[in-house]
Amino acid sequence: MLQFLLHILGYDLWFYASHLLLHTRLLYERVHKKHHIVLYPHYSDTYVGHWFEGPFQSIGFLLPWAIMDVGWVSCAIALVFVNARGMLRHETRLGWLVGNHHLLHHSLFHCNYGEYWLDRLFDTHCKVEKVCKKGLLGL
Ligand SMILES: [Zn+2]
Ligand SMILES: [Zn+2]
Repeated sequence: MLQFLLHILGYDLWFYASHLLLHTRLLYERVHKKHHIVLYPHYSDTYVGHWFEGPFQSIGFLLPWAIMDVGWVSCAIALVFVNARGMLRHETRLGWLVGNHHLLHHSLFHCNYGEYWLDRLFDTHCKVEKVCKKGLLGL
């Protein structure tokens, strides 16, 4: 269980940092803009984007796996978890369940780059409190 949590933590840290990089002037227009074409996404838009994004953000999944000697079962569960979570967060119709943290990122662009706690920690969260909604899962 600890390995699973550390694996997810490692992925979340990489995703946050890499997502910030994708929003720099250098990478946004060339790479990340394709993911932001949809302002109100559907779960199937989770993987829409430039070809570079998939391998680049997968590093955050592979690095913890390689460093921590994570078992295959834990790795498979973590893979399913991060992908399912990603799809849920891109589904406008499920805001009531998982909140709108990432949905706001799509509509506002310059906030909410990763997990809620990371955005709070680094002060990159949405500052318009009245539009921020947590879902039933507390996300
Ligand atoms: Zn983005
Ligand atoms: Zn997105």
